[in-house]
Amino acid sequence: MYGIPHISTGDLLREHVSKKTTLGMKAKKYMDRGELVPDELVNEILEDALSREECRRGFILDGYPRTVAQAEELERILSKLGLHIDWVINLNVSEDEIVKRLSTRRVCKVCGAVYNLVTNPPKAEGVCDRCGGALILREDDKPDVVRTRLQTYVKMSAPVLNYYVAKNKVLDIDGSGDVATVRARVLRALEEKSVAKQH
Ligand code: AMP
Repeated sequence: MYGIPHISTGDLLREHVSKKTTLGMKAKKYMDRGELVPDELVNEILEDALSREECRRGFILDGYPRTVAQAEELERILSKLGLHIDWVINLNVSEDEIVKRLSTRRVCKVCGAVYNLVTNPPKAEGVCDRCGGALILREDDKPDVVRTRLQTYVKMSAPVLNYYVAKNKVLDIDGSGDVATVRARVLRALEEKSVAKQH
């Protein structure tokens, strides 16, 4: 819709893991346990991604910052690059719904396309529509690891929300319902903000 890059630190880390880079080998053990990868590793890949020319027209960060220290580092990186954050989108979804969505999520081993067995199934079971690759359940989408990830969120990432609330940047969005419904809510909230800014 906005035609700007989607930067997911999770995707970038998974790429490092599958290419078995030094950074990927270090990150893997944390990811498999559902814990956060140390800030210095994630900050490095984030700065590389944001330095790309195509980010000058805007970007969406997904899964970053996940700690207050990362939020502070992000400020430093952005001011160095002459960029800034407009809004932080806080999607509110119940824990039960999160567990349900993650246990039915499948990703393509080859191209990374994301499916959901209930809400967005592939045409042929276990096969990616886009590239024909095998669809798998992410190691960290297994119930035990999801529970650790939720605990990690409460302990490490929830404070990041307060950091941005204090800066008046947070848009609270109801994340229940299907993809099209949530997408429409996000776009409406952004639209309202840009209309308000013009007046
Ligand atoms: P995600 O795909 O965003 O759910 O991320 C998957 C996993 O990658 C997380 O559970 C963490 O282990 C790691 N990860 C992704 N982003 C970050 C981040 N900003 N800080 C630390 N670890 C991260």
